[in-house]
Amino acid sequence: MKKRPDTAGKSAKSPSVTRGIDKELLDILACPACRGDIKSGAAADSLYCLSCGRRYPLKNGIPILIIEKAELPSKG
Ligand SMILES: [Zn+2]
Repeated sequence: MKKRPDTAGKSAKSPSVTRGIDKELLDILACPACRGDIKSGAAADSLYCLSCGRRYPLKNGIPILIIEKAELPSKG
């Protein structure tokens, strides 16, 4: 019988793994352009700013929060 690793002392996390980026990480991220909140977009590989609407790429789970790499929202 295998002994399970002790998980009692660890905070129980939801077993469902979110593709893309951790919600906790999203909470601490801010848009480099306007300091707005960053949210994950409809696509799992992109993020967007709630304030200015810039979209940021996500590479291997790493958010690329660089203004020059951001896509500005199309207007009109
Ligand atoms: Zn922004």
